[in-house]
Amino acid sequence: NKARQSHLFIVQYEAGWDEDHLRRLQLFADFKEALINEEICLHYQPKVGASDGSKIGAEALIRWMHPTFGFVNPEEFIAVIESAGQISLLTRWVIRAASMQAKQLWSQGHQLRMSVNLSALDLLEDDLPDFIRKILQELELPPEALCLEITESAIMQETERSLANLNRLHNLGLMLSIDDYGTGYSSLSQMKQLPVGELKIDKSFVMDLDSNEEDRQIVKSTIELGHTLGLKVTAEGVETELTRDWLIANGCDTLQGYFYSKPVPARDFHHWLEQYLQRSES
Ligand code: C2E
Ligand code: MG
Ligand code: MG
Ligand code: MG
Repeated sequence: NKARQSHLFIVQYEAGWDEDHLRRLQLFADFKEALINEEICLHYQPKVGASDGSKIGAEALIRWMHPTFGFVNPEEFIAVIESAGQISLLTRWVIRAASMQAKQLWSQGHQLRMSVNLSALDLLEDDLPDFIRKILQELELPPEALCLEITESAIMQETERSLANLNRLHNLGLMLSIDDYGTGYSSLSQMKQLPVGELKIDKSFVMDLDSNEEDRQIVKSTIELGHTLGLKVTAEGVETELTRDWLIANGCDTLQGYFYSKPVPARDFHHWLEQYLQRSES
């Protein structure tokens, strides 16, 4: 491919750049094409209701299998695309693809909520709410079909503009969620004024619950805090049956983690869902 080669040439011609810098430049040079030729795709991970195990949601997580680098961690390439000022393009692609998947599930009778991750920079973009409204309209999906996850650290960078956009997204009827909760330093007063409906406890507090009393105390009080604020509380990183049972006993609303399923391609997610619902019926 000519375009790709010429990018590569320019990159290698500059002297003194380390390997890491070259890798970032290459990722940036390749990402638009990767969207088109399906090197980049979404995987889906179930979110399972604690009290009603048949209440299922899903989180869409981006994956890139690069022809020379192999699997690239999403946190790595999202950072590259953010710093290149292109994140809005990627986010819109993700929202569209995840919504189309939600549509397929809804038309098969699975009225689940599909969660999509936003970057902090997305909230500075005033036309995002309208973009989402149009997609829902086009696909004839209700706003309950979508949830937007925003990391706690993104919310802390909050500006008047991002708060206004969060309110506009909320007014469309979308569920908003605070992701990676516990890793930032947001204050109660900050959280109280946000139009969010879900709080996701970061997996670093959940993964070692079985053996770590301190983590159990933190998770327990976070569940209480969430409920005090009227939020549904989700735990991510649920890896064992013991962790699941403890979280259910302590009032957590939704569970997500390898115990149920890793993030998997759409076809495998459909398969998982059928099997899971069949099992919980019998
Ligand atoms: P996140 O939104 O907090 O997603 C949860 C991460 O935890 C995912 O990592 C998921 O694979 C992993 N995970 C889930 N259950 C378990 C478990 O039981 N054990 C362990 N060890 N890990 C578990 P992943 O897919 O590598 O994504 C990392 C982060 O990249 C995400 O964290 C999110 O912040 C970001 N990301 C992923 N897709 C997108 C996207 O489409 N747009 C944006 N802006 N960010 C994304
Ligand atoms: Mg997330
Ligand atoms: Mg998270
Ligand atoms: Mg995370």
